[in-house]
Amino acid sequence: MYALGEALKVLPWGTRGSIATPGPARQRYGGNTSCVEILGDEGTLLVLDAGTGVRPLGESLPKNLKRVDILLTHLHMDHIQGLGFFSALYDPEMAVHIWGPTCPTQSLSQRLTRYLSPPLFPVRLPDLPCQLTLHELPGDVTEIGEFRVSASLISHPGSTLGYRIESASSVVAYLPDHEPALGQGRVPDEPEWTSGFDLAEGADLLLHDCQYTESEYIDRVGWGHSTFGQSLDFAKLCGVQHLMAFHHDPSREDDALEGHVRDAVERFEPSFRVSIGAEGTAETLRS
Ligand SMILES: [Zn+2]
Ligand SMILES: [Zn+2]
Repeated sequence: MYALGEALKVLPWGTRGSIATPGPARQRYGGNTSCVEILGDEGTLLVLDAGTGVRPLGESLPKNLKRVDILLTHLHMDHIQGLGFFSALYDPEMAVHIWGPTCPTQSLSQRLTRYLSPPLFPVRLPDLPCQLTLHELPGDVTEIGEFRVSASLISHPGSTLGYRIESASSVVAYLPDHEPALGQGRVPDEPEWTSGFDLAEGADLLLHDCQYTESEYIDRVGWGHSTFGQSLDFAKLCGVQHLMAFHHDPSREDDALEGHVRDAVERFEPSFRVSIGAEGTAETLRS
């Protein structure tokens, strides 16, 4: 056994990028878009992004839960599409805090309401029954229950955040949509010039964009995503213990995904652990 505050569970409910891709060729890693549950052993529950994976997450919430915090990296549809189907939003007893990126022209509420309002969705965001509070980031380091949460703007089209979540004993970094190689064609060697370094430095677990193969990236520079190799370079620069490949391309079937990650690992020979983010496969971090 381990003491309170010394373990946290990281459970992906959606690992796919861009658009949901259900079907038999993607069953091992899943077809739902970005959504990750972080659960501390004191009961604090964070939801990273609200892609289509947040709907089944809502069905699994503990019955006695009174507060949930949703940390949105950005407002591309694959990261908010499940929001209106998240059961906690319809519970009058539930305090729901949604954290997301600031923008100079519109509030977070106004931008989310563009999706959560007719004709795109039948319920307007301000009319949801839960006790809803919105917060715009980046800002000061925030304490949420047993976690310290930091957010910084990172390289991706539009206002986009990455997150660093610290418990008493572990650090998880979440950068699902991230192109740190933009401008140089490779991840810089200098930490201070590298997007996202401050968030991922020394993390026990880094969930990072691994959307493209090297050949795909050539035609997609500036789209905001990374290759498998760039993600390995970024993870090495940041000195992480474990890289979880995340935001799988919608075209990538399970066998091809495993092949691409295996090839990149053979080329790179990382000194840290590498895994492929899979729906329903939890990682438990302990001190
Ligand atoms: Zn995305
Ligand atoms: Zn995006």
